[in-house]
Amino acid sequence: MTHHRETRAVRMPVPEPPRGTPVAVPLYQSAIFGFADPESLAGAMNGPEGDFAYSGYANPTVRALEDALTGLEGGAATLATSSGMAATSAVLHSRLRAGDHVVAQRALYGGTFAALRDLTDSWGVEVTYVGGDDPAELRNALRPETRLLWLETIANPTGFVADLPALAAEATAAGVTTVVDNTFATPLLCRPLEHGADIVVHSATKYLGGHHDVVGGLAVFADPDEYRRTWVRAIGLGVVADPFAAWLLLRGLKTLPLRVTRQCASAALLAERLAGHPAVAAVHYPGLPGHGSHQRARRVLDGGYGGTVAFDLAVPGAAHDFLKRLELVLNAGSLGGTETVAMHPATTSHRHLDAESLRAAGVGREQVRVALGIEHPEDLWADVEQALRAG
Ligand SMILES: *Cc1c(COP(=O)(O)O)cnc(C)c1O
Repeated sequence: MTHHRETRAVRMPVPEPPRGTPVAVPLYQSAIFGFADPESLAGAMNGPEGDFAYSGYANPTVRALEDALTGLEGGAATLATSSGMAATSAVLHSRLRAGDHVVAQRALYGGTFAALRDLTDSWGVEVTYVGGDDPAELRNALRPETRLLWLETIANPTGFVADLPALAAEATAAGVTTVVDNTFATPLLCRPLEHGADIVVHSATKYLGGHHDVVGGLAVFADPDEYRRTWVRAIGLGVVADPFAAWLLLRGLKTLPLRVTRQCASAALLAERLAGHPAVAAVHYPGLPGHGSHQRARRVLDGGYGGTVAFDLAVPGAAHDFLKRLELVLNAGSLGGTETVAMHPATTSHRHLDAESLRAAGVGREQVRVALGIEHPEDLWADVEQALRAG
């Protein structure tokens, strides 16, 4: 039977998959998938394994991204989410109950700090902050109700590197799950699961996407059951990744090694030159031998020390004027993309912290953070240098 034009306009045939395999992962921009019979549809609704039924649960493009990260981090399974904070929240909400206890490192991403404070206010989850470099301090902080240890590979903006192997070993011995936010290191510079962590979270918005054009997150799990529990929670929270975002992240991933190598090299060059500049009082980059985390960074990182550099200007109150004089480097937040960006943490990313907390986080009023892109490093240095000189 020939259908009416109205029906044919809606129900155009979807082409069969081509015989050749597409070189790029196709974008499956479809919210639902149809089946020949109700039993197949019912089966597909059952879990993240098996067929795809609804993209709010799982999607082939998203799955390709998840599988890529599982391989890069050396995990058992990965959950892609709508943002880095979505990955963090899915893990926190899946793992914690009212009255549980968390140990987190003091130099912590502001959004994670806020999420933990919210869990304290809403659910009575207690949080103890530790330095992140002393296993004995962690041992003393652990309680019978401790469920999670939360660390970061390279902390923002000071470049603090936690002692992942020693702290993860301490947590594992106590039956505590170790989560590492690996956003700043990427799986190229560090694979926390190899150092004993159980879960790795990423803001894919940063290096993995790498072009300042997509927001996304990932959580990689060593244990498939932990993955499944978190997947169920992520569906409940409604934070699974969108197929188009996953497609952009897959595209970004292809050039991750090229970009990160360049960004690390440019950051190292900038850090060295800043350290010798009279207008700069201090440089915070774990690649510098004088940085407090340098020895740990050498053990935990491999192939570079990250693509962000923070530094303190020698003249008080000069940070905003320095940022205004930049011509090539953009005044923008975030990091890890192709364009170099700079910001003043005390009035942006860390604006909610009081003077005491700013000091604890190692963030001074005179501090500027530069997140390197992939422009020519000499052009970037020339811009930074002219902005310093004019001061
Ligand atoms: C940006 C960031 C996040 C949050 O990621 P979003 O994608 O912005 O939600 C988490 N951790 C770190 C270290 C980050 O830099």
